[in-house]
Amino acid sequence: MKRKIEQLKKVLNEALQIDENAIADKIIYKGYKCVRCAKCCKAESGDNTVSIFPFEIRRISAKSGLKRGKIAIPTPSEDRDDAGNIHTFEWILEKNGNCMFLDKDLCKIYGCRPYICSTYPFYLVEGHLMVSECEGLGSAISKREALKMAGLLKNRYITEIKESIALLEKFRGFIPSGRGDICVHDSEGEHWLYMKDTDKI
Ligand code: SF4
Repeated sequence: MKRKIEQLKKVLNEALQIDENAIADKIIYKGYKCVRCAKCCKAESGDNTVSIFPFEIRRISAKSGLKRGKIAIPTPSEDRDDAGNIHTFEWILEKNGNCMFLDKDLCKIYGCRPYICSTYPFYLVEGHLMVSECEGLGSAISKREALKMAGLLKNRYITEIKESIALLEKFRGFIPSGRGDICVHDSEGEHWLYMKDTDKI
């Protein structure tokens, strides 16, 4: 575990050096303008799963007044401890086919939507720009907008690494020690819950 954390700290140092200007130039080359099709939020367009960090859940909860269990659920997992409890490492936005925050093709939590949404269709892998399918690709984008996106992407990437480090630092293994039948291990530690009670959390 220690070795993995040290590796991630090196990756974090590299991430902090990412040149936003260079990322912005690549975004300009790809071209992008959101055409408000909302396809990235809908089930009909493929996998619309949105991973979400604990602080993002809190932010949405504060804005919407919804409890955590109405916002996010544990990501499915096959990992079990000796007592048969499930262990997982991620939260995903609750959905009912489409994202539950999509209303008439508009995002009800636009101002506090997760990083994955605000940076779509882009993401960084090992510091390199990657692009998902999107109707808005190929449209002209200003340098100012591209720089804004590049900054968000860098922040998202750095956050992902920091969250992973914090998770590993708190991870104790699959120990059946809490009240519940599922445990989410995240950057804040262990969250034990009963799957049937997720809307009461
Ligand atoms: S949170 Fe908003 S932007 Fe993200 S998938 Fe849901 S409706 Fe779409």
